[in-house]
Amino acid sequence: MKITQHVYQVGGSNLTHPSDAAIYCITDGRVSALIDAGTGDGHDRLLKNLDREHIAASSIQYLFLTHCHFDHVGGAHKVRGTFNCKVVAHEPDAHYIETGDQYVSAASWYGSFLTPCTVDIKVSEKQKTFEVGSLNVTMYHIPGHSPGSAALTVESEGRLVLFGQDVHGPLNDVLKSSRDDYIQSLEFLLSLNADILCEGHFGVYYGKEEVKDFIESFL
Ligand SMILES: [Zn+2]
Ligand SMILES: [Zn+2]
Repeated sequence: MKITQHVYQVGGSNLTHPSDAAIYCITDGRVSALIDAGTGDGHDRLLKNLDREHIAASSIQYLFLTHCHFDHVGGAHKVRGTFNCKVVAHEPDAHYIETGDQYVSAASWYGSFLTPCTVDIKVSEKQKTFEVGSLNVTMYHIPGHSPGSAALTVESEGRLVLFGQDVHGPLNDVLKSSRDDYIQSLEFLLSLNADILCEGHFGVYYGKEEVKDFIESFL
């Protein structure tokens, strides 16, 4: 599903596997990056979807993981193995991804096991910018839903696209959520004033007002 000239949704509950969170792809046609990896149970469908959008496997240089939950990172080891790309995650959550944690990752809620995945780049800064070909992708630390939750942005067609993923939460002690951090992070996401919001489970929101209304509904 094409969102802009540079942004596609290539996975999710209707596109790869019913348990998968959304998987997005950023590409300038030459270099690409994936955002999240789903559970891994729909990995073959992910490869087909990329192929259908003519996104070459060899173009994928990064897998950005928004947080450590199983529906977003269960397939990370398969993506890293298939594309030989660099896995990027924010520091607190990188630990749970690398150790294959069953509880903070929520894998046990899915009756499954998180296969550990190496995180090649552990981000500790509040914000860090990566070059994906000619595109600048910025990763922001937005703790709350999980300790190391991250959001990403990219400019495309003069619009700011925000990958907020689990903007909606939930908050849960087992997931080490923090309500205070979550509220601060939602305020931060609002301050970005994005034109398009790509969410983890609720689809894509177009227009500053729609994006603002969706984020505000959780405050
Ligand atoms: Zn999720
Ligand atoms: Zn989550």
